[in-house]
Formats: sequence, C-alpha cells, structure tokens
Amino acid sequence: MFDKMSLLISAAWRTLLNELKSVFIISKKHAIIKCINILFKMDKVLLDRLRKDFPEIRFRSGVKFLFRPPRTVVLGADEAHSELLLLHEVGHALCGHRTFTTDVRRLKMEREAWTKAKSLCAKYGIVYDDEVVEHELDSYREWLDKKSRCPRCGLTRFQTPDGQYHCPRCES
Ligand SMILES: [Zn+2]
Ligand SMILES: [Zn+2]
Repeated sequence: MFDKMSLLISAAWRTLLNELKSVFIISKKHAIIKCINILFKMDKVLLDRLRKDFPEIRFRSGVKFLFRPPRTVVLGADEAHSELLLLHEVGHALCGHRTFTTDVRRLKMEREAWTKAKSLCAKYGIVYDDEVVEHELDSYREWLDKKSRCPRCGLTRFQTPDGQYHCPRCES
C-alpha cells in the first residue's frame, strides 16, 4: 500500500518537474525551487510582505517586470525567476533610482538594483542566483553594445552627458 503510494507520488513529482522545466524552460534546480514556491504560495506571501514592508511602493500588474520611477513596480507574468526579478525592481525603487541620461549611468543603476536585490533575497528567503543575474546583465550589455554601434560605419560611438551618441569616424 505504502509502496504503491510512494511510487505514485514520485511519478507525479517527476511529471510536475518535467512540466515546469518545459513550460518555463528552466533547469531541474530551478524547477524544484519553483515547485516549492508554488506549493507554499511563496509568490503571494512575498508580495504581501513587500506591500507591508514598503507601503511607499506601488505594485501594479503588467506584461513584464519593470520599475517605473518614482515608486511603481510593475509585476510581470509568472516565469522561472519571478521572485528574483520582482526583488530587482523593488531594488530600483529602494535605491531611489530616477531617470538616467547616459547608458553608463543606467548600467550602474542595474548593478545597484541587483546588489539591493541580493540583500532582499536574504531577508525574504529567496534564492539569489548569480547565473540569472549575470545573464540579465549580459543581455543588457549586449543590447547596449548594439545600441552604441554607428549605423553608418559600425564603429562604437560615445555618448555625451545629454544622452546623444556620436561617431568618432563619421562626425569628424
Ligand atoms: Zn533593472
Ligand atoms: Zn560612423
């Protein structure tokens, strides 16, 4: 009887993990974290705690996770690292980030928000995954790199404090 039950449970667990892995396209480790979060409704608990601890921040639902200065955090659709992304956006709010003019300044803000997210992860018992953070920062750097390329000659342009890009080759 018990053997049959444990067999059923482990089969169900395996199916659930595989399902999560394919839906969210994540590793086994992340699927397990996700399972635990769903089972204990951690997503909901985390949001409730954040609302209580930071009444100055406004939480709104949206399509993707983002921070809208001065104090609105937009909640994206549920995904593999929702909790971590949520804490990153809260990090922006707590760092008092406003607008930025240059991309270098923006990159610095991204780093600051992740550092803040790390301490929030420790506080709320969320796994801070360096791999995910590095991946986020990498895709950000790639985007910056593309953006700064001169559309005419392909050289990397520089940005003046007003946010404008200038090509050292084409504008000389
Ligand atoms: Zn950010
Ligand atoms: Zn150029």
